[in-house]
Amino acid sequence: MAQDEHSQFLDDIPAYALGALDAEEAAALESHLRTCASCRDELAGYRLVSDSLLTALPPKPPSAALRKRLQNRLPGAQKQSRPRLVWDFSRLSLGLGFAVLLLLNIFSLVQLRGIQTQQAGLLHRVENAQVALAMLSYPGVQTLPVSGEAVSGTLLLDADRNTAVLVAWNLPELPAGQTYQVWLVEPGGGRVSAGLFRPEIGQPYTTEAIASSQTLSNFVGIGVTIEPAGGSDHPTGERVLKVDF
Ligand SMILES: [Zn+2]
Repeated sequence: MAQDEHSQFLDDIPAYALGALDAEEAAALESHLRTCASCRDELAGYRLVSDSLLTALPPKPPSAALRKRLQNRLPGAQKQSRPRLVWDFSRLSLGLGFAVLLLLNIFSLVQLRGIQTQQAGLLHRVENAQVALAMLSYPGVQTLPVSGEAVSGTLLLDADRNTAVLVAWNLPELPAGQTYQVWLVEPGGGRVSAGLFRPEIGQPYTTEAIASSQTLSNFVGIGVTIEPAGGSDHPTGERVLKVDF
């Protein structure tokens, strides 16, 4: 095959590993991958990198080239064309992981949460990881340290876009009947629930998108407590971590 064709595909591999190629580009690359061992090796490497972007403490931003690629895929970057295929569940069932999400819309967390109930587990993890990676590609996203006795991690906070993703390490698994609950902390000390989650089984870290109906800049931080399943109206259990904005 022509060398320049190979190098074109090589350039696409980082974006492919993160699911940032459109369907046509992905199909072309996949057919090249079947014939090119060196591109397959490259892809395996980038899959490791895309994981380690999240597992690094604090998270490391993607390279400038990949950042540009991701930004071009995000809402607002495409002025005229509508986003095409967003979800492709057949790929999910093939276990392609990150390649599932051809376009990430970080402003659709509510919609994502609806889909999530149909495809819990893997999709949830991929979704949160994608949100976290996409947030890293935006300028102006703050990475705030998590403090807790046994737990470490980072909160990615984009106050302008009212989006936050918690990346927490070493969250203990919980017995049935208990849940983690996220609280937004008001300046006066009040707490507003921002969702329930359980740690990801078999993963050293848990990513959790935090959705708030109010603007996040109304709050001074978040806390996470252990609560009975179904959650509480106000914190009643042990606090495992907090983040100051
Ligand atoms: Zn190749």
